[in-house]
Amino acid sequence: MKLGGQHYMPAGGVVRVALEVSRSSSGHAFHLRLTTGLEGPCMRCLEEAAVTVDVDSREIHLPGSGDEELSSPYVEGDVLNLGAWAHDALVLAAPVTLLCRPDCAGLCPVCGVSLNDADPADHRHAEPTGPFAGLGELLGE
Ligand SMILES: [Zn+2]
Ligand SMILES: [Zn+2]
Repeated sequence: MKLGGQHYMPAGGVVRVALEVSRSSSGHAFHLRLTTGLEGPCMRCLEEAAVTVDVDSREIHLPGSGDEELSSPYVEGDVLNLGAWAHDALVLAAPVTLLCRPDCAGLCPVCGVSLNDADPADHRHAEPTGPFAGLGELLGE
């Protein structure tokens, strides 16, 4: 799945899903719960990052009601498209920014070194001089 332009994979490729289906005279109610780890690059420093995401999502499908709101987009005929639902619910439940740790310092905008490994007080750049001074500005950085 894609978040913020990066690819994230369920940890170990296994997602445990619990699905409850309640049937009524007019349709079905579905309750989906799943927990998975997501692994992918930290959005600040691109190191490996992992989070656990809990999904708790409900869908109601009452085809006879004539109400669009009560018709699940994940049900077609008698088939529940669990994969599409789980995917969308997971995207909604996933953190907007996925970081290797909450206080990730990110990359140095000048040299690209991970500031998690460098002492920020120690890691400074002098005013750029020389033939490449200002190149970063030209490149829009
Ligand atoms: Zn990071
Ligand atoms: Zn630097």
